[in-house]
Amino acid sequence: MAERMNGRRKPTGQGLASATPTEGGARSSLPFKFDRKTIALVYDFDGTLSPRPMQEYAFLPQIGADAPAFWAESNALAKRERADPLITYMHLLYRKAKAKGIRIDRADLVAQGQHVELFPGVEGWFDAIAGYVKSHAQSHGVQLRHYLVSSGLKEIVEGTSIYRRFHNVFASEYWFDPYDLPFPKRVITDTGKTQYLFRINKGVENLGESINQHMPEPLRPIPFANMIYFGDGDTDVPSMAVMRKNGGYAVAVYPAGKAKGRAKCVELFKAGRCDFFAPADYREGSDLFLRTCLLLDRILADIRVREEHWRLGRSISRAR
Ligand SMILES: [Mg+2]
Repeated sequence: MAERMNGRRKPTGQGLASATPTEGGARSSLPFKFDRKTIALVYDFDGTLSPRPMQEYAFLPQIGADAPAFWAESNALAKRERADPLITYMHLLYRKAKAKGIRIDRADLVAQGQHVELFPGVEGWFDAIAGYVKSHAQSHGVQLRHYLVSSGLKEIVEGTSIYRRFHNVFASEYWFDPYDLPFPKRVITDTGKTQYLFRINKGVENLGESINQHMPEPLRPIPFANMIYFGDGDTDVPSMAVMRKNGGYAVAVYPAGKAKGRAKCVELFKAGRCDFFAPADYREGSDLFLRTCLLLDRILADIRVREEHWRLGRSISRAR
């Protein structure tokens, strides 16, 4: 069955025609080259790369708010009003700042990013993983990208030392200008996060473009099988489920030595939400590093297998 192509998407070199049944298309016009070799590592932020929610490092202290009390108030308010918890927290942050007469603009939020603590080894992780992929890739042209999908604030992430490491950052954002109080511009909820996984998968990263148009599997530049999602808890369940159901991978992390965090990871593991879990220690040689490398070994071998499959299909069609 020929798959319908929607009008918006330009055919890439990969094209509708893919070489093999696993690449999913007709054999008649094979693409000139096999280019689905990009690997995407996708991270949650709070609790995954950083021990605490990012607002706790500077925003809450700046407005004199106690973190546990703030979250309790925000969650209770959302529950009472049946409001979205994320919109509620974004609104409450600024209502409290305003009540204290403190103005926090976009530049202030970015500056707050410098205070965000990262788990051990996070800063060195990106180079170490790049080194591993480079030395273990079995085909030419394998690319590695890191993405962040967070319910936290994009402006704060921008101020962290690791911001430049990400190919793209999808996070909640404010409008600052036209309102008396900054107003949520984009809110990324737990289930909303999955939209961004499909954006990465389909290569539709421009947020002005709709993600909902059908795109046949072989046209998607980063197959789920080339993706690993890193998260730390219940808020990551929708993303982990999407990853695993579509042939991708998920890894859960918890703060080293924290029994409660570990118990959550065990629960995710037993429920089949994640492939692996490990303490959030990103240093080379840690369990997290080694288990990630194990998944990368599989992804790299899989890329090589699909490429060989494609090559064989191409040689047959040429010989005809
Ligand atoms: Mg988290």
